[in-house]
Amino acid sequence: MKMLINGKFEEKKEIFNVINPYNQEIVDSVPIGDRGDVKKAIESACNAKRSLKDMSARKISEKLYNAQENLKKEQKSLAKLITQETGKPIKDSLGEMARSVETLKFAAEEAKRIYGESVPLDAGLGGKGFLAFTQKIPLGVVAAITPFNYPVNLAIHKIAPSIAAKNTVVLKPSLQAPLAALRLAEIINDEFPEGVINTVTGYGGEIGDELVVNEDINKVSFTGSVATGLFISSRAGMKKITLELGGNDPLLILKDANIEKAVDAAVLGSYLYSGQVCMAVKRIILDNSIANDFIELFIEKTENLKMGDPMDLKTDIGPLIDENAAKNVEQSVVESFKEGTKLLSGGNRDGNFFEPTILDNVRESMAIVKNETFGPVSPIIRVDGVKEAISIVNHSDYGLQAGIFTENIRDALKCANEIEAGSVFINKQSTFRTDNMPFGGFKLSGIGKEGVKYAVEDMTRTKLIGMNLR
Ligand code: NAD
Repeated sequence: MKMLINGKFEEKKEIFNVINPYNQEIVDSVPIGDRGDVKKAIESACNAKRSLKDMSARKISEKLYNAQENLKKEQKSLAKLITQETGKPIKDSLGEMARSVETLKFAAEEAKRIYGESVPLDAGLGGKGFLAFTQKIPLGVVAAITPFNYPVNLAIHKIAPSIAAKNTVVLKPSLQAPLAALRLAEIINDEFPEGVINTVTGYGGEIGDELVVNEDINKVSFTGSVATGLFISSRAGMKKITLELGGNDPLLILKDANIEKAVDAAVLGSYLYSGQVCMAVKRIILDNSIANDFIELFIEKTENLKMGDPMDLKTDIGPLIDENAAKNVEQSVVESFKEGTKLLSGGNRDGNFFEPTILDNVRESMAIVKNETFGPVSPIIRVDGVKEAISIVNHSDYGLQAGIFTENIRDALKCANEIEAGSVFINKQSTFRTDNMPFGGFKLSGIGKEGVKYAVEDMTRTKLIGMNLR
């Protein structure tokens, strides 16, 4: 596939082969762009600002609806492409595409709801006799930088609210899985004037960095790892910035939890896309009084998961994104043994595959739960009571989402009230998101919120207009 700059496809001599993590076959290739290509894409986005500014909100909404209809027609083929480039089980890629279509629809709706407000200047000294109101105006050009794991939906979460708020966009997808995102951009480009959406492909450290430092970029919207996010924030200067970063989300299972439901939540939450999900369950905080019953069923259901060809609709666990990623997970698990964890299930690597793995005897200070282990690993930390559970949850540098299982409403609300995370779900695992909700973590998990309405808010700035009527 090619880059898209000012409505035209751009190639380069140097290309990057996108590899299918399941069978190591080349899926397709993309150009390796350089800083010059990024500058061209930014120039194109700058030139297109006027065309979008002059377009009515009604027209933008209509065009986003059209793009949504066209995306819907390609839903299945794009799901297949996601599976080929990421190794994500096809049932989960189909799920991502269904959500992507909905995200685009939310943006088409939101394009018509960008309101300012009237401001009573006469409440302040000297403000008597004024009529004043605010407008939400576009920022200009948004740089959208996305990771490999949800290549289409995470790109839509940036592109669609940007355009709904009349900003033009330069998208830099992950080099590991750029293909479906590039096709998405083409679908959107078909509806809008040239230059409204541009794409660049290449190495993050070069073309990603150019997007971050370039003075014609007005906002950087980044989803990815904490390390890259921190680096970007040190490079972005005065630009507006949204960082959707990693997590090590807890699943609290309190003494009066419904064990069967909690086990299902732990299995889904830990092993969806082999745990390569920012809001995956990364720590199971389990009350000692029900630990044995929970663990017995958890092992049984984990061992029932089907590992294999991600293109097979029955597959639950596919490969990790590459062998290095699988080796990193293996190393974290092996290191944890030295600190005293006990292996209850899994633990083996075969190439890019890593078995769903349950670890017991985990303590809050161990690296396996302090860092984000981006793989199918469920470390269990046993606790006695709600107070200890909350204290362990909050003993973390991250704060993306959290899930609590209990039938006791007081304990549920106490936990929800005290847990430091962007979202807390009661009787649901953290691995849950609808695309209209405010999404974004506390602490090292990020800055700012996505979720279409909230992203639109972040993609605008407020201007006050006041008229002296006296
Ligand atoms: P990554 O940080 O390695 O890469 C993300 C993107 O940043 C890629 O497009 C990459 O090319 C680019 N990049 C790399 N260096 C850059 C630089 N110096 N300047 C600008 N851009 C640069 O992340 P990844 O491995 O692709 O994705 C996994 C991570 O993403 C995990 O930590 C996961 O938790 C996180 N994630 C977070 C969310 C969320 O919404 N909070 C969602 C999905 C994934």
